[in-house]
This record gives sequence, structure tokens and C-alpha cells, in this order.
Amino acid sequence: MDKDASADEAPRLAAEVRDWLVARRIIERELTDSVLGDLGHRPGLGHTAAVEAPDEETGLLRLQTNGLQIEVGRTVFYTIGGELTCRACGAQFEPEDGWSEAVDDWYNGNDSAEFECPECGKPERLVEWSGEFPWGFGNLGFKFWNWPPLSEQFIQEVAVKLGHRTVLVRGKL
Ligand SMILES: [Zn+2]
Repeated sequence: MDKDASADEAPRLAAEVRDWLVARRIIERELTDSVLGDLGHRPGLGHTAAVEAPDEETGLLRLQTNGLQIEVGRTVFYTIGGELTCRACGAQFEPEDGWSEAVDDWYNGNDSAEFECPECGKPERLVEWSGEFPWGFGNLGFKFWNWPPLSEQFIQEVAVKLGHRTVLVRGKL
């Protein structure tokens, strides 16, 4: 998830990253029924260059749901049950009271929606909250369905390509 892409620049950045991934054969250009509820790009023959253990047989190509879904537009990515960590006091907690209201607020267009730490009360913008399983808020997201862990290097390369800060959200269905 790109943390900083504006709604205006997200479509251009999405196309640039898609073309770059296609050129490296990490994904296929065609959009197919490879993600749930939408269209995605199936992994290409070079997809192993993007994962942590490139020499291992991933089995990814044999899966039905294995596409990259590129989401343009206000999107929230998250992990159910994931904990956040307060940068001010270090408290770790599962977001509860007020969090979903703040998320709705962000989703409805308030980029500076805030949430207060339940321990120390320090407010922080939603997009700045982090933790072991951070949430992603942004206008441009890349969802790799069922892919093995992506390599640090690959994630860095995508961030450089975007020219923005990114957040990696691990999700399970
Ligand atoms: Zn705190």
C-alpha cells in the first residue's frame, strides 16, 4: 500500500508499476479472474524474483486465486486481530473503541482522521499508526493474493518506483 499517493496521481502510478512488473515478468499483462471478486494479473514466469525464497517451488502458478489486484481509489487494508503499537508510550493493543469510527471518518474523505492511544491518550493520524500488523490507508494498493512472503528487496524496489512510503499489510481470509 502506497501511503502517500494522492487520488490524482494514483492511476498513473498504478499503470507505471504494472508495466514495470509486466516487463520483469513478475505478472502477466492480461486481467483475468485470478482474485476474489475482481480481476487481477496472474503471476508471470519471473514471479519468484519477488519472493523471499526464490529458489523454492512456490506452487503459486497452480493456484486458482493467485493474481495481483491493483486497487486505485480510497482503500483500507488490514489484518483481523492485528495489534497496533503506540509510538509515544509503546502500548500494544488491538484497536477497539473509536477505531472503526475513525476509519469511517478517513474513508469518507478526512485524510487527517485521528485515533487516540487508549493508554496515554496521544492522538495520531490513522495513517501514522503502526505495529506488527499495521493497517494500510491510501489511494493505491497492491494486493498479492496467496503469494508467498515478498522479499524485502522487492518491497523496497516497489517503494522506490512509487517514490513514496509504503506499508506492508499481511492479510488472511
Ligand atoms: Zn500511547
